[in-house]
Amino acid sequence: MTISRMSDKNSELDTLDAGTMEFMKWLANKDTNSENTLIIVKDYFDNKYVILFDKSILNNVIVAYREGMPYCVTCNTDDCGHVGFAICLKQDYDRDDQAIF
Ligand SMILES: [Zn+2]
Repeated sequence: MTISRMSDKNSELDTLDAGTMEFMKWLANKDTNSENTLIIVKDYFDNKYVILFDKSILNNVIVAYREGMPYCVTCNTDDCGHVGFAICLKQDYDRDDQAIF
């Protein structure tokens, strides 16, 4: 795994992959209130939208699900890290409430 580009004045989560990796971190830490995750999930409305707090930009981010496909309203794109995070989050919820770990 290589972290190649570091062109940020925007969110550090500027790729789908970055969002996926951040989700893994979030999932592993969500029960421990860890401080080292970049994303906080503030609200989740099934199949509608999710509100995240991105610590790298200190702002709320809204990802809307359009026909099941997430779209980041904040970045105005469908391939930023927030979308990657939201895809994983939705899969996690769709898998129902059973604990994975
Ligand atoms: Zn975004």
